[in-house]
Amino acid sequence: MRMSRYFLPVTKETPAHAEIISHQLMLRTGMIKQHSAGIYSWLPLGLKVLQKIEAIVRQEQNRSGALEVLMPTMQGADLWRESGRYDAYGAEMLRITDRHERDLLFGPTAEEVVTDIFRNHVRSYKELPLNLYNIQWKFRDEVRPRFGVMRGREFLMKDAYSFDLDETGARDAYRKMFLAYLKTFQRLGLKAVPMRADTGPIGGDLSHEFLVLAPTGESGVYYDAIYDETDWASLDISFDNTPKARAARAETVDRIVKAYAATDEIHDEVRFNAEVTPDRRRTGRGIEVGHIFFFGTKYSAPMHAKVVGPDGKDCLVQMGSYGIGVSRLVGAIIEASHDEHGIIWPDAVAPYDVGIISLRAGDSLVDGTCEQAYQTLLNAGLDPLYDDRDDRPGAKFATMDLIGVPNQLIVGPKGLVAGLVEVKDRKSGAKVEMPLESALACLSTKAPA
Ligand code: ATP
Ligand code: MG
Repeated sequence: MRMSRYFLPVTKETPAHAEIISHQLMLRTGMIKQHSAGIYSWLPLGLKVLQKIEAIVRQEQNRSGALEVLMPTMQGADLWRESGRYDAYGAEMLRITDRHERDLLFGPTAEEVVTDIFRNHVRSYKELPLNLYNIQWKFRDEVRPRFGVMRGREFLMKDAYSFDLDETGARDAYRKMFLAYLKTFQRLGLKAVPMRADTGPIGGDLSHEFLVLAPTGESGVYYDAIYDETDWASLDISFDNTPKARAARAETVDRIVKAYAATDEIHDEVRFNAEVTPDRRRTGRGIEVGHIFFFGTKYSAPMHAKVVGPDGKDCLVQMGSYGIGVSRLVGAIIEASHDEHGIIWPDAVAPYDVGIISLRAGDSLVDGTCEQAYQTLLNAGLDPLYDDRDDRPGAKFATMDLIGVPNQLIVGPKGLVAGLVEVKDRKSGAKVEMPLESALACLSTKAPA
């Protein structure tokens, strides 16, 4: 992309109403534009990051064996009356009436819709296990939408729903998601700690939240230092449905959740002090980016979602649900990765891989070199952002750092006299001078996997 052709409405001023850094930076970089309270338009830079996150979430869901569907945003109230949640859900549900006076709602979650799909199409236990997910916009009329996309009213969620014949199967489905989540957040460049959680209005007896540590997080967190020390990348996970793979998943998850980790909602100080030695106690704040539940027959019972079991008898299906806040993750990543100059995107979600900064647009040698670099990087499969505008170098450096492009190639007339360009690492700020060929060879290795 050439900056001269891009739509990047960057601003210098920090918006007064934005309380936390991620919200400020998302507005300043022109990633989003507030439409009304808790509702945003995603502009090109923001959308690009959102889509990169979405793609990683999707890949890891697919890898775990979950199947993607797309359920409606507008849901009929009758299904929710069947489950008993139409009245129970409260003011967060946006209720709408259509021209035929039929009650609709903008889905805040999709247990009812997916259970209805299941009961219409699945008959036998032989079709299980089944996990259906979608990445779809949700609406919750939050009392206090705030912190930008972190607590919006309209937000993008990945929600998966598992169906199993019995509780043993359902617990395995839960563990698959648990492990897929560790992998997902690790690939996004985040440290997300799985914490025991309250099951809340959805109910059930097994639930974990995944929290990204950040001082601006809404939850207080208490955990064993082991979670800081573990690298989930080294987890060797098989999602096969063989007894061996199931046993390995149970062993792995049990080992991970054995160590203490809880949010303030259910934190038990006595247990914390008894189970974790003082030097290993960690406390702080965290942002909930994922939440998984096992809730058995909470929906299948009232909605009569059954399969014929191996004994020929009807059996209520055992369910779980698994959410990831895809749009919230954009803010969470910024909270976890920024400095005084702006955003520092982890490579995997960076909107552009390399920023090319021309220090003198209009100089034929500089223009030619930048053009050559731009084409070479494109051909190498990278996504470069070329600042070809006729602007001050200082302003260009500031913009590239603000929007967080991880690798930068700086091309100026003085360097070119000696045959040199500069390569800068956004995170460390380190700059190295080298010939163009070496710079391009070095940058070409940065193509994300
Ligand atoms: P919270 O406790 O933050 O209100 P929740 O427990 O109500 O969230 P879930 O129903 O578990 O949320 O939804 C799954 C995920 O969707 C959450 O883990 C979170 O990442 C995201 N999410 C929930 N509410 C919002 C919101 N208002 N804005 C952005 N993301 C949200
Ligand atoms: Mg939750």
